Amino acid sequence: LAEVLEHEQDLPSRTPDGHDVPLMVNTGLAVDAVASLKSRIAGVGLYRTEVPFMITERFPGEQEQTRLYREQLESFEPLPVVMRTLDIGGDKDLPYFPIEEANPFLGWRGIRVTRDHPEVLMVQLRAMLRASQGLGNLQIMLPMITNVDEVDDALKLLDRARIELAEDGVNVDRPKVGIMLEVPATLYQLEALAQRADFFSVGSNDLTQYLLAVDRNNPRVAELYDACHPAVLVALARLAEESSALQMPTSVCGELAGDPAGALLLMGMGFGTLSMNAPSLPRVRAAIRRVPMSAAKALVKETLCLPTPKAVRDHLEKRLGEWE
Ligand code: PEP
Ligand code: MG
Repeated sequence: LAEVLEHEQDLPSRTPDGHDVPLMVNTGLAVDAVASLKSRIAGVGLYRTEVPFMITERFPGEQEQTRLYREQLESFEPLPVVMRTLDIGGDKDLPYFPIEEANPFLGWRGIRVTRDHPEVLMVQLRAMLRASQGLGNLQIMLPMITNVDEVDDALKLLDRARIELAEDGVNVDRPKVGIMLEVPATLYQLEALAQRADFFSVGSNDLTQYLLAVDRNNPRVAELYDACHPAVLVALARLAEESSALQMPTSVCGELAGDPAGALLLMGMGFGTLSMNAPSLPRVRAAIRRVPMSAAKALVKETLCLPTPKAVRDHLEKRLGEWE
């Protein structure tokens, strides 16, 4: 089967009934290895900028960040690269910026940190914009959004960064800006968020953690952490419907998108693009190429009325077996 999958990798991620489901990759480090997949993907759906920050001894300066971002943008050009602003806190601590809290996942994380430290976000935004000069494939994404004004504040800083660069003689177009949907509160503010952004991307890892109130890294409750929990699936299905009614391009960049059964469900729900770690691409592509959209839609219907995560997993396994 591995050989078959390898041979399929240059074929489009298209269902037998002709629906394209573009696949993107998640990146952090090691651009070279992933960039070789350029002809097989639709771009980078999530570049986790905190990853390079985790291996330095202090915040990388504007020049250093510009170099890092330029490398990403150039490697995938002309494909879009969605750069997420710094998402530290929670389980991602920088040794030189310790955050100590009793409940880090409910604490100072992602946009909450950079909103309190606009000087950090400004360096990052200027570096991203500088790096994008002459390329045009930069998109920016905001993590851990809970409130609409967090988006407004970040957009103001983006405008300011562009003005500052223009004063330096560097003129760049305003990149598209997206919002991570990973805090449950965002699911109830889609309209207001859609007015402020160009796209949504669902962080199913955190969305699962917060919907189920299960720490994604705590082994004691690891069995309770399941993105195929019926409540998570119902939330995702409604979200796909509502964002499509708002005509917002919406992708999924959490681990669920890299799981073949999860990917089929997401495609059946109507998510336009799936972004995953590179090693997940072959199996997800193979699943999409074997299962018609109509069957994926039916799968969603069958699955959404099941009562437990286990019932969902069993059903998915059975169905997937039929398509292999
Ligand atoms: C997510 O939460 O699903 C996500 C993609 O972001 P991260 O895993 O970096 O928190
Ligand atoms: Mg997240």
